[in-house]
Order: sequence, then structure tokens, then C-alpha cells
Amino acid sequence: MEVLYSSTRDGEKKVTASQAILQGLSEDGGLFVPDHIPTLAVTMKALADKSYQETAYEVMRLLLTDFTQEELKDCIARAYDSKFDTEEIAPLVEAEGAYYLELFHGATIAFKDMALSILPHLMITAAKKNHVDNEIVILTATSGDTGKAALAGFAGVKGTKIIVFYPKNGVSPIQEKQMVTQKGDNTFVVGIHGNFDDAQTGVKTLFNDRELAEEMAAQGLQFSSANSINIGRLVPQVVYYVYAYAKLLKEGKIADGEKINVVVPTGNFGNILAAFYAKNMGVPIAKLICASNENKVLYDFFTTGEYDRNREFKLTSSPSMDILISSNLERLIYRIAGNDAKKNAEMMAALSSGGKYSITQGMREQLTDFYGNFADENETAARIKSMYGNTGYVLDTHTAVASAVYQKYVADTKDQTKTVIASTASPFKFTRSVMNAIDPKYDAMGDFELVDELSKIGNVAVPKAIEEIRTAPVLHDHVCDKTEMKAVVKQFLGIE
Ligand SMILES: *Cc1c(COP(=O)(O)O)cnc(C)c1O
Repeated sequence: MEVLYSSTRDGEKKVTASQAILQGLSEDGGLFVPDHIPTLAVTMKALADKSYQETAYEVMRLLLTDFTQEELKDCIARAYDSKFDTEEIAPLVEAEGAYYLELFHGATIAFKDMALSILPHLMITAAKKNHVDNEIVILTATSGDTGKAALAGFAGVKGTKIIVFYPKNGVSPIQEKQMVTQKGDNTFVVGIHGNFDDAQTGVKTLFNDRELAEEMAAQGLQFSSANSINIGRLVPQVVYYVYAYAKLLKEGKIADGEKINVVVPTGNFGNILAAFYAKNMGVPIAKLICASNENKVLYDFFTTGEYDRNREFKLTSSPSMDILISSNLERLIYRIAGNDAKKNAEMMAALSSGGKYSITQGMREQLTDFYGNFADENETAARIKSMYGNTGYVLDTHTAVASAVYQKYVADTKDQTKTVIASTASPFKFTRSVMNAIDPKYDAMGDFELVDELSKIGNVAVPKAIEEIRTAPVLHDHVCDKTEMKAVVKQFLGIE
């Protein structure tokens, strides 16, 4: 059955999957959501013998129904190839009784690669299908990882340009180096004076700027988004939860039908929403455990039913989760409001004017699958140290937040359900924070000295993504104020 997409703020208009991918965000500012979530057509037992690519096809064909079999298989083959340093694409590592789903084996060693290595191919295919001749301009705000993953995905892709805004002082040194050394004539990287929420708000404003859209159209250009608000990001992320379950089954770690819990270190709520969709497609998942860092808006939301962004924004050692407006939560709100676009739009209007909204008791009752908690900076560092001390396995800071929250969950609930923890970044991406957590003496070392030391103590080779930036020249040095984003975009695009 065909899946169509409508906006979370307007239930009337429906578009195809390819149109939703091309557009990114709906014109009314809402996010595209599927009109129903289909059930997997193959059993977990059958999936257990499939490769990552085959699993991806089984999932994506159900949600991206206007793509042909050839188109999807072609996109999948181009995305999940030797850019990943393991044929498994997303290996599971058992440590201290939980299963770490390593989502960082792609080109930029963070989980964003899982979706961003396929999004450019989906987007170009979508443009062809819809007879769009305009050049697609990808406009992206990043808290560090999306930016590089999107740049790597779109660099050199014909018919596209990509502009990335990042908070100048809000990303790790390695993350910044990865972005500003990006090659490719179609890539633009700009630091802004502001935090991630400023960058994201600025980008959303540009998307909704009609005047700019017209000026661009006159030049044969149109915007799309590589942020996790794009359904083309979300759908590929459903895949690895299906894959992880099938893999556990194959390895005899779980019985067929046995429920598992999933822990996700969360920022914009994209990854955990994908796990929720996987559950809705029939993957036996019990609890969805939402792990936050000190920016614990989501924890407060799950415990009180009130979403309130009016608070101090904290820079932490897990910068990709330093977010106070979790965009993808809107898709869940819409859903628990009974797919009521009007009710959702009212809450989002309250969020944008007063910075907060409350959900009803009836909506709260639909959140029982979710558990929220958070880990502060000390708990996160302590988790990295104890995991390393106990097992020799080195966690990155984001995964450590998830791991610490999982410990709190078990202490709280005594739930012994087998658990998959989304491991969202390589520790090499956050070397300084990781090494300092293991031993403060490392703080005296330089960034790349630390890389070599981590390789030694963790007994893992330095990833190619890190080797590449060691000596790479800086190619992007633009910095602007958050009020200047529009001018910068126009300048890059050559619009007077
Ligand atoms: C983006 C990111 C997250 C947060 O994922 P969301 O989908 O935004 O919730 C967590 N960890 C890492 C390493 C990331 O890059």
C-alpha cells in the first residue's frame, strides 16, 4: 500500500515520499509524517540471514513507496559500500552485558553517516522522478556531526550545492577541522556567533523565506534540507534497529519475538524516533530509553509533560546533543495528539512564542514506551573511565551519556530486558574529552598526539577520517553573525 506524507501542521495536503524528500520541510513549517506506518513484510528469522543492504531494502521499500525497486537498490548500493570500514556496516559489540550498536563506521565516524551517505542519492533520484531541473541547494545547521556527514555525502554530487552553518565555539576541535577542510567546489562551510539552536532557527527562517525562494528560482536554484527533519534522513535510520534485532536473533542472543530495550543518546530526537518507527513496524522493542546530557529538556518533558526551552544552554562534552529544541519531537507530538495537525500546530506556536507547551493527560498516557533520564558531565566522564577500566572498550562521550542513563534505568526499574545501546560516534571524534575522562594527565597532549595515544590504549587503529584531516589545509574560514545568515547564503549563491 502506498505511503503518502503530510505536514504535522496541516493534515490536508499529501505528497509522495520523493516529494517530501525534495522539499525537506513543509511550507507551513511542519515536518512530513507518513500517513501510516507499514508492518515489515518479512519475518525477523528471514531478516536474520540478510545483509545490511538487503535489510535496508526491506525497510525502505515500505516507507518510500514511490521509488522503484531499481532506484532504491541503486541508492543503497552507492551508499553502503567501502566508505564503511566494515562489511557489517553497523556491528554489535557486547560490553558489560549490553549490546553497543556501533553506528560510526562510515566516512565521518558518527551515526549521521548512516543516513547521509544515502540521502544525496535519494534526493537526486527524487529530483529526476519529479522532473525538477533546478539545482538543489542543501542548507544545513549542524551541532557538529551532521555538517561533516552531509558535506561528505553531497561533495561533488552533480546538481547539488551544500551550505553548512555551525556554532563557531560549539563543536569539538576535530569536528571543526573535519568541516573546514572539506573539499569540493559545491561545498560552503560557515561558523556563526551563536549556538546550535540559533543556527537551526536561522536555517528554518531561510527555508520559509518566500522572497528568497523566488530569487533562487529565478536562478534555477531551490533549497532542500539534510537535517533530520528530512524524512530521507529518518527512514534510513529505521534500518539499523531492524538489523540489530535480526543480528541478535541470528547470533542466538535472543529468542524469536523476545523484546529488547533500546537506549539512544538524544539531541534532535531523530534517532530515537527512528527506533519508535521500527517498533511500530513490528520490531519487538519494549522500552525506548531517551538519554540526555545536561541540556535535559527531554528528560523534563517525559517526567512532567511540559516542554520548556526557557533555560540556560549548556556546552557539554557531548556537543551533538547540546540542543534545547528537539525538532523531531514534533512528529511524536503530532502522533500522540491523534494525528491532529491543528492541535500540534498550536503547541508549536506556543513553543515558538513562549518557549514552552504542555501536553494533555491523554497524550502523556501514550508515552509509556518511553523512559527519559540524563547524565551530567561528571557521570559521563565516570562512565567512560569505568567502562574502559572494566573492559578496555572506549566509549565516546555521547555513547557514554547513553550508557550512564542505561545504568540509572536498570537501578530505577530492575528491568533485565536485553538492551541495545546506540553507539553514535567513534571516541576518536571526541578524543580530548574521552582521554581526559580516562586520565586527566592526557590534557597536556596536543590533539593528534591524543589520537595516537587513544589508538594505543584502546587497541584500535586510527580511523581513516582522522588520518585524512591530520595535515589537510583549511579551505573554509567564513564566520558570520547569526543575523547575517541570509546575506551569506545569497553571496554564496551569487544572488544580488
Ligand atoms: C546527532 C548526534 C546525536 C543525537 O541524535 P538525534 O537524532 O539528533 O537525537 C547523538 N550522538 C551523536 C554522536 C550525534 O552526532
